[in-house]
Amino acid sequence: MAKYFGTYGVRRKLSEIQPEFVSGLCAAFGTYSKSGKIIVGRDTRTSGEMLQKAAVAGLLSAGCKVIELGVVPSPTVEMECRDMECDGGVIITASHNPPDWNAMKFMGPKGVGLPKEKGEKVEEIYDSGESNRASWNQLKEVTYYFNAVTDHINKILANTDTQAVRERKPFVVIDCANGTASKLAPYLFRELGCKVVSLNAQPDGHFPGRHSEPTQKNISDLISTVTTLGADMGIAWDGDADRVIFIDEKGGYVWGDKSFALSVKMRLKEKKGPVVTTVATSNVVKDVTEAEGCKLEYVRVGAPYISEKMLELNAVMGGEEVGGVVWPEVSWGKDGLMTAAKILELVCTSGKPLSKLIAELPVYYNSKTKVDTLEKDKQAIMNAVVDKVRQSQPKARLNTIDGVRADLGGEWFIARPSGTENYVRVFAEAKSQERADELTSKYKALVEEVVKSI
Ligand code: MG
Repeated sequence: MAKYFGTYGVRRKLSEIQPEFVSGLCAAFGTYSKSGKIIVGRDTRTSGEMLQKAAVAGLLSAGCKVIELGVVPSPTVEMECRDMECDGGVIITASHNPPDWNAMKFMGPKGVGLPKEKGEKVEEIYDSGESNRASWNQLKEVTYYFNAVTDHINKILANTDTQAVRERKPFVVIDCANGTASKLAPYLFRELGCKVVSLNAQPDGHFPGRHSEPTQKNISDLISTVTTLGADMGIAWDGDADRVIFIDEKGGYVWGDKSFALSVKMRLKEKKGPVVTTVATSNVVKDVTEAEGCKLEYVRVGAPYISEKMLELNAVMGGEEVGGVVWPEVSWGKDGLMTAAKILELVCTSGKPLSKLIAELPVYYNSKTKVDTLEKDKQAIMNAVVDKVRQSQPKARLNTIDGVRADLGGEWFIARPSGTENYVRVFAEAKSQERADELTSKYKALVEEVVKSI
């Protein structure tokens, strides 16, 4: 079991992720990466500079060569890691967590995130105290590279139908959450010829504008600005800009699985191939993938699993339901900025407003709940839950790579253990709200029964 690593790196409150820990773990990561060339970037958090310096010190001590990018979006680091042929990377970012948190996202060659299992190898080196320690005459240098944001903008523009967007001159309101999107998004949309109104676009680790997670409640200012000003679209990122959420021209909140489905539809019309997502993703993505004659591959929940599988299958697209889409022509990481440019391109090339494009997608209803596992053995609980689901649904197609997902033809449910808390989450999707609620209450009761019996 991983001691420190979650689904993508090590994320904690600052009190539990102090510089000496960061430096030590990065020395272990540098050792794991064979003292190679490591790229480092960070988000706008107040603890970012302190922890970045600690990370760089640890990497240098392990004999690594370091390239520092400064404050940039996470997808920018993932892109440069691949393009600069680095042996790995570290991003100091706690993504959408509150301002008193911070984290390290680690990636390997090609900018593919390190999943928990590989993180455990880094932990073993850290715990053994046997990280490489370069002698004075083996220490390498730090290179400061300040063109990463421009590189990223240029790569997005090169892979977008800029002419279609520039001709249409759409009006967009963007909300950068005072996070790293502030460094790139206002310039990208200006380059695309849009009329742009920016909210929370000054980098600020106190996140004074809004909470960094783009939930419907947190981006209410953006929603009202879109409708008041009559914009074509609103766009909001999380703190490190790998995830993006859209607001349609009527002020409607577009759930991440819908924008992912639009991205898949758009991609598969131009290029066929496998698509990768997690077992927690809506059937709307499966429907649009299969409608184009392509296959949707499921992986466990966690960005690195998506990237790894995409690379293995040479997939044309990947993503997850919270608004993270991977565009392999740019990088192997979720890129909220590329996704924003492509959805805007789709609106401009189709001539349809975003609300109409969304309305053309299949409609599903969902329902979610969770069951307290009372600090009991989650693995034993899940084993029993899988058995019971198998007995109760002999005809269902089961996927047990992460909890248990049962597909019942047009509807499905999943029971999966939380990675960080003592819960089993139960989620269902169906053709009506009543049916989705019915499925969650039925399987919530099943999980509760199992918890009681363990
Ligand atoms: Mg994020």
